[in-house]
Amino acid sequence: MRYVSTRGAAGDVPVGFCDILLEGLAPDGGLYVPESYPQVSAGTLEEWRGVLATQGYAELAFRVLSLFIDDIPAADLQAICARAYAAEAFGSRLVVPATPLAGRLWLLHLSNGPTAAFKDVAMQLLGELFAYELARRGSTLNILGATSGDTGSAAEYAMRGKPGVTVFMLTPAGRMSAFQQAQMFSIDDPHIVNIAVDGVFDDCQDLVKDLAGDLAFKRRWRLGAVNSINLARLLAQVVYYVAGWLQATSGPGQPVSFAVPSGNFGNICAGHVARRMGVPIDTLILATNENNVLHEFFSTGVYQVRGAADTYATSSPSMDISKASNFERFVFDLLGRDGARVRDLFGSPEFAATGRFDLSGTPGFAGLRERFGIVSGTSAHADRVATIARVHAETGVTIDPHTADAVKVATDLIEGVAEPVLVHETALPVKFAATIREALGHAPEVPAVFAGIEGLPRHVVDLPDDAAVLKEFIATRLTALAAG
Ligand SMILES: *Cc1c(COP(=O)(O)O)cnc(C)c1O
Repeated sequence: MRYVSTRGAAGDVPVGFCDILLEGLAPDGGLYVPESYPQVSAGTLEEWRGVLATQGYAELAFRVLSLFIDDIPAADLQAICARAYAAEAFGSRLVVPATPLAGRLWLLHLSNGPTAAFKDVAMQLLGELFAYELARRGSTLNILGATSGDTGSAAEYAMRGKPGVTVFMLTPAGRMSAFQQAQMFSIDDPHIVNIAVDGVFDDCQDLVKDLAGDLAFKRRWRLGAVNSINLARLLAQVVYYVAGWLQATSGPGQPVSFAVPSGNFGNICAGHVARRMGVPIDTLILATNENNVLHEFFSTGVYQVRGAADTYATSSPSMDISKASNFERFVFDLLGRDGARVRDLFGSPEFAATGRFDLSGTPGFAGLRERFGIVSGTSAHADRVATIARVHAETGVTIDPHTADAVKVATDLIEGVAEPVLVHETALPVKFAATIREALGHAPEVPAVFAGIEGLPRHVVDLPDDAAVLKEFIATRLTALAAG
């Protein structure tokens, strides 16, 4: 399998997985996508049903990822998957168990990993892949990332202790929950560097893009990425759509739908890939919170990025995103995989100036629901609170605010979609205690591993929203680390 850029031209040479594992954007500013989607037959899916049941998620991951990764020897990839998806790290060999919730809804439990968010599933694999590839090359890597909450802690827990890896993680100062801050800032490791930026998440992401765009700086300091545009993360996420389908069905061809709380279009993009591969996914229900640029696109055809001032701080903060960094991968498919058209849209001076394009009235947009199976809806704070309370009253299950956004939108849209609908549980409620308390009148249960975390000393550096200052800081810190 080879990979191409979403902004590529006909003459470009596709590249292998390991060549881009440690990269972020393609050199032309686009995102890497598989040259074509591997097709999975009904027979293979039935074989995988046995694999998941008898051997567990790690082996399923190996089978699925083997379709995308052919430049790591099979035995090595199998061992990487076994280390990434150990039952001890995720609480069970299934890693992502699916349970019926109520009526036509199921929960796909994606947040049983070390930091209690779905991002662990991809990040644990990425940590192992990075360690493997860096050792193979005799190289080191300094990861620069931005997070509005869960990416940062998932990355830090996946990368800590991995030889050759240092992490610089930017967070929007004061915008994460107390628990999320504690998870990250309590890590006491010189190679895990937390930076609180005076701005919102999009400012942090812009700083990352700014530094990654300075090729000399990037090369000099060996900067790499783990944000959601990383190709390996996308591929890792495809696996749990397969695992979800397998658990909610009993035989070939049975359709399911998924409801996915969305911000960067990362998680749901993997569902799109799984659907293109032939997994019988009927509908992908995209749920946004008040920051609903994606819902706006899927309901009107207009994509309008919003600035920091128009990005609300909500009670599902990991979706407080107004510039969906993975969306370009979907648009590439929507436009018939025409790199020149994608470049005209996302790379144009107009888009840089206005952050807007309009695909309404194009044939691609008109047939979107039928061809891609995506529908969307939006949810607000009062919906989350009411949904958390209702689900708890009806089932005894406490769901987190992001999962609640997806349950709300799935409930709104359920009439038109095939059931069962697997709602992605993207975080555990313990991460968002204030909203749970508002909804239920009591705090969420604290899993034993997280007890007392908010009382630990904090390791974090405050910086302004300024690329030059950030560069200076990174250079100084890495020089000090190298000197021991
Ligand atoms: C990151 C995150 C999301 C949004 O996922 P995207 O891939 O950015 O669309 C939703 N819920 C939680 C809990 C998250 O951490």
